Amino acid sequence: MDEITTPFDEFEHASGIATVFRRGILARCLQAALRAVSFSALWLAILTAGFLVVRRAWPLVMGSPAPISLKSAIPLIAIGFSYACLTVTLRRTFSQHVLGILVGLAFMLWGAEQFLTNQEIISLIDDIVVVLFVSDLSIVIRHNFASCAGERLVRNACFPVVKTIETYNFAAQPSIEEGHVRALIEGKYIDRRENVIIVGNPGAGKTHLATALGHAACLQRKHVWFTTASALVSELIEAHERRRLRQFHRKLDRLDLLIIDEIDYVRLPDLRAHLLFEVLRTGYERTSLVITSTIPLEKWAEAFDSETAAKSAVDCVTDRGHVLEATGDSYRQPGRKAIVEPQFRAC
Ligand code: ADP
Ligand code: MG
Repeated sequence: MDEITTPFDEFEHASGIATVFRRGILARCLQAALRAVSFSALWLAILTAGFLVVRRAWPLVMGSPAPISLKSAIPLIAIGFSYACLTVTLRRTFSQHVLGILVGLAFMLWGAEQFLTNQEIISLIDDIVVVLFVSDLSIVIRHNFASCAGERLVRNACFPVVKTIETYNFAAQPSIEEGHVRALIEGKYIDRRENVIIVGNPGAGKTHLATALGHAACLQRKHVWFTTASALVSELIEAHERRRLRQFHRKLDRLDLLIIDEIDYVRLPDLRAHLLFEVLRTGYERTSLVITSTIPLEKWAEAFDSETAAKSAVDCVTDRGHVLEATGDSYRQPGRKAIVEPQFRAC
């Protein structure tokens, strides 16, 4: 069944659910309880607001006053309560939490206003409510812009299939240090122009990790491009033949992160090898690279003909590189369930 989405979903970070799991069972229960309270209060607001409409329409239709009266304070207070409870369950910064709760309180005050008689206090409450609404709306709009930009960057990155760190099973690959990967996910390595080299057997989750790093970078408003070594070489050859190599390099220069998947035993003809290793070498100062390969680092020099530009390119990449070595077995082992193979799509 599809998950129910709310207008507030955009506040939920991609890792929100997993974070809750890490926080433990108590936090999860509290969150579930708050959501339930929020949901109940919302229904109370809907029913009482509906009742108010009926009550107003009653004299028009029936010609007599409605038998039961109800102040609009009730739905307003219920909305405020629902909003404040919901805000606590969302992944927001401390100040956003405070502001959300204040908006909830503002609704409640707005409702409670109906029981007040002092006009000065009523006007003051109205003004406070307006200020809080405007502040909260500005946060919603800012988040919306940020998430739209992130989605656009994810689309432009051309991932074969979007994978995140939350679906990576670290227990299945003990040689990959979770803390190291989570630190990389924060993206500071990109600001420092450092590289990540992921080596391991086929099926060990190299592409998954590379995609997860790229996806996280997109959400941090970084320009990312995911490609395979063979696709990159083809594009380089095409650009070379059309004498557009410089433009192609300029396009690469604009990236914050270039992910090259499956750099394996490439016994490439001279020109192809030269073009590929030139990308690695020239990107060294300007762009971060995430590279996946089945070749252990110590064998790189022999794997890539060390007489060519390969040696210096490999040195450049590994010089400021974080190495993640997946020494475990393939995740595609027979018997393991629920593995969705990447579906490569044209980009
Ligand atoms: P590689 O690039 O190393 O050949 P992939 O990243 O393509 O391997 O992984 C193959 C499949 O197995 C993918 O669907 C991937 O999501 C999954 N997979 C591999 N390792 C893990 C893991 N540790 N946790 C979760 N899924 C994994
Ligand atoms: Mg792969």
